[in-house]
Amino acid sequence: MTTPQHTDIAVIGGGPAGLQAALTAGRVRRQVTLFDDGTYRNATVSHMHNVLTHDGTPPADFRAAARRELTAYDTVSVRDERVATVERDGEGFRLTLASGAVMTSYAVVLATGVRDELPPVPGLQDVWGDLAAQCPFCHGFEFAGRRIGILGAGAAPHLSALLGPVAGELVVFDEGQELPEGSVLDVPRVSARVSVVEPHDDGLRLTLDDGSAQDVAVLFVVPTLHQSAPFAEQLGLDLNPSGCVRVDEFGRTSVPGVTAGGDLAHLAVFPTPMASVVQAAAAGQIAGNSAIAQTLTRG
Ligand SMILES: Cc1cc2nc3c(=O)[nH]c(=O)nc-3n(C[C@H](O)[C@H](O)[C@H](O)COP(=O)(O)OP(=O)(O)OC[C@H]3O[C@@H](n4cnc5c(N)ncnc54)[C@H](O)[C@@H]3O)c2cc1C
Repeated sequence: MTTPQHTDIAVIGGGPAGLQAALTAGRVRRQVTLFDDGTYRNATVSHMHNVLTHDGTPPADFRAAARRELTAYDTVSVRDERVATVERDGEGFRLTLASGAVMTSYAVVLATGVRDELPPVPGLQDVWGDLAAQCPFCHGFEFAGRRIGILGAGAAPHLSALLGPVAGELVVFDEGQELPEGSVLDVPRVSARVSVVEPHDDGLRLTLDDGSAQDVAVLFVVPTLHQSAPFAEQLGLDLNPSGCVRVDEFGRTSVPGVTAGGDLAHLAVFPTPMASVVQAAAAGQIAGNSAIAQTLTRG
């Protein structure tokens, strides 16, 4: 039997959180191995926004630049491979890759992100990240002054309050649902269900189940979040009600030696992850720091 390869810190995830965690740990000469299976949350986004010094940069260019920077560090190795399992192995961890290869580490940084489940409206997935999105900070400004749609009643009060000063006109497609109790919405509502979404002119046409159609420049949607990877479950990590991994202020999970940063995790005080590239990178830095602390406490 061959001895598994060893690394000080295994970072799983090559989005902004994992890339930053690897940079942080690599700079203090911890041996870091970063795994990336190439499934990024913002894969369909052509230009990201609200990212200082990178406002409007394609996400792929951002990741490529980060990877180029990591090549300056002989302490960091990046592997385009999927990790299949993570388990405790004595004081450390044992990672099994999809290829069957095995690696051990003293600490693990989880930066595997989340997967968006969209409402089951035909055509929505095709325009996701372009003419349909979830975040007014990332996606609103480019549609300023135009007619903006919001799909679903649950988040309509919150989203319409944020988008009010951006939109020329707002419309809520409430799908026949009630607003959250006690909320007020001073925005026109359409209750017929949306049966198809498709690009039309430089925006979207929504065909409704009463046969009518509505045109908007962009549609805001609230996706359901799912963990992209099975590691929270495999390691038995505590979760928040959102389904995301619960971390403390230091990015530590409920299992010593496992830290987490980015969209897959958040503090218990937040209802959901503060999903943004900058927040993910910041959380990755904290998770990287705390992973180093794990290597320091070894005898
Ligand atoms: C439509 C849309 C538009 C957005 N626009 C913006 C924007 O304009 N500005 C902004 O700041 N934010 C934007 N965001 C949010 C932003 O994309 C996320 O907050 C950010 O990507 C989270 O980074 P992350 O590192 O946590 O996860 P991700 O970027 O999703 O990276 C996850 C990483 O984990 C890897 N991974 C997962 N499982 C495994 C495994 N088993 N083995 C190996 N690797 C694995 C993936 O391959 C990937 O490398 C947008 C999000 C969406 C959905």
